[in-house]
Amino acid sequence: MSGFEGLTAVVSGGASGIGAAAAAAFAERGANVAVLDLNPSPDHWSHTCDVADDHQVRQAVAAVAAHFGRIDVLVNNAGIGAVGSVEDNSDKQWFRVLDVNLLGMVRLARACLPHLRESEHAAIVNTSSIAASAGLVKRALYSASKGAVHSLTLAMAADHVAEGIRVNCVAPGTADTPWVARLLDQADDPAAERARLEARQPTGRLVTAEEVAAAIVYLADPANKAVTGTSLAVDGGMQGL
Ligand code: NAD
Repeated sequence: MSGFEGLTAVVSGGASGIGAAAAAAFAERGANVAVLDLNPSPDHWSHTCDVADDHQVRQAVAAVAAHFGRIDVLVNNAGIGAVGSVEDNSDKQWFRVLDVNLLGMVRLARACLPHLRESEHAAIVNTSSIAASAGLVKRALYSASKGAVHSLTLAMAADHVAEGIRVNCVAPGTADTPWVARLLDQADDPAAERARLEARQPTGRLVTAEEVAAAIVYLADPANKAVTGTSLAVDGGMQGL
């Protein structure tokens, strides 16, 4: 079943990792895909856009609407990391990460909502993280930004349910993406750090970007119209087992 034939899915951060896997999964299911990212996508129609810049976000969403004529799905996935306790990160770092990870999602939602209201199958999927609820060491800023994404998801689901717009989030565990590869590269012993991350997962391995993408597709799928205001963990059982 195609599920998304004739629909348009906007994927922020879709030029790499989880976003790229989600873009591919929507395209495989018949959707028109628009990637909004700092970098162009080699595989899909894309528009460069910094989600921390409201003007760029509005321009990019207008370009998607002009090109595809409609927006049915928004995958709010662009995000950046931050390492440290509250003593380690400056106000400037806090503002920057929240500007991208939280306000970036707000800006894109604001720009897409008028288009989503025109769709019979409107859905927003935000990428949160296991960090929102796992109490990870040295991740105060990042965890707070993703906890806020979870709360935003619940509030938006309530605000827009009467309009038929569903809002959910995915909460990936450590996923094998270029982001994690960069983190491992910075470790003193990348192989040992990878083994530590894998051992943390009950499955003994990292989550794949495709596994997270499958959950994003599930949450956006018009077949799942009763699913809104939920967070779907894709973490190899890290929190539940
Ligand atoms: P990634 O670095 O591979 O991809 C992130 C993409 O977002 C990149 O293409 C980047 O250019 C884009 N991006 C970054 N800042 C942007 C901005 N200001 N405007 C527009 N685009 C921007 O990372 P990933 O691992 O695929 O992570 C994707 C999402 O998943 C992030 O929100 C991240 O917090 C979340 N996440 C990742 C993991 C993990 O272990 N990889 C776990 C939980 C949650």
